[in-house]
Amino acid sequence: RTVREALAESGPTFSFEFFPPKSEDEEVLLWKTIRELEPLRPSYVSVTYGAGGSTREHTIEITEQIATDTTLMPVAHLTAVGHSVAELRGIAGNLAAAGVINVLALRGDPPGDPEGEWVKHPEGLEYAAELVTLLRAHGDFCVGAAAFPNGHPRSPSVDSDTEQLVAKFRAGAEYAVTNMFFVVDDYLRLRDRVAATGCDAPIIAGLMPITNFGLIRRSEQLTGAPFPEQLGKRFAAVSHDPKSVRAMGIYETSKLAERLLEEGVPGIHFYTMNRSKATREVWANLALGARV
Ligand code: FAD
Repeated sequence: RTVREALAESGPTFSFEFFPPKSEDEEVLLWKTIRELEPLRPSYVSVTYGAGGSTREHTIEITEQIATDTTLMPVAHLTAVGHSVAELRGIAGNLAAAGVINVLALRGDPPGDPEGEWVKHPEGLEYAAELVTLLRAHGDFCVGAAAFPNGHPRSPSVDSDTEQLVAKFRAGAEYAVTNMFFVVDDYLRLRDRVAATGCDAPIIAGLMPITNFGLIRRSEQLTGAPFPEQLGKRFAAVSHDPKSVRAMGIYETSKLAERLLEEGVPGIHFYTMNRSKATREVWANLALGARV
């Protein structure tokens, strides 16, 4: 099955994202989380691609294992950074041979300092759109791409960022997943900008429940955008009480997801941080199981 097919069915998709574990303990936690989320019957689950080193091979192993050992449909993330075109073709071949036909095509950030200078591999690719083309040329893949409601930190403007997203769709990406965001209008404006170009490709909304105060700073690092001021003040007012921060995070994420569903979003994607509880709570609030 492919994400394309899941999106074509009635009702929004909902999906969960994991990252490859870096230790045995993390691996145990990941599999516990996967088993806890499996009964929710998500449309798909995705596994991120590491910045370098052994976690990269781990992505392929875990994606394969999800395909063979669970009822879940896996999506493997793949990044262009640090790979030659020949290596990327080899990885694509390995994924297809393992039965993993859903790939999220990304450029990746420079290893070490994600905000540092982007240097293309001498025999590699410059932009994610080129990786989309490479994967589509392979023939077997359903390919997705990344979208940025607040613009990518390296983009000179949101309009140029939108053009690059549309370029990924034109290269053959069949859907996009957004970076996390916290204001529904940021998503709606992105959708409008894309629609204004005549492109109607589905843009799945990526959400991360804030379960502790530290995640606010983390989200700023990951998105390159400041956390919304008013919401930040509400979290700051309860920052002395971790339980209240968590409850507020679940409530706010549920409210955001509910509004997005009312706006007809094609799917909701949860950044799980390899834990199941917050995602299960938001899922229960939304009664997502009853919708599909
Ligand atoms: P691109 O689409 O290539 O865009 C990069 C920058 O270049 C943008 O500023 C864009 O506007 C600009 N640009 C693109 N094309 C052109 C062009 N032709 N001319 C001029 N400018 C252009 N990172 C990981 O390492 N592993 C992961 O698994 C991973 N998963 C992610 C999943 C999601 C849903 C998201 C939103 C991000 C993920 N990332 C991951 C982070 C991502 O790799 C970084 O944000 C990276 O900096 C940008 O990747 P991209 O695929 O959007 O790149």
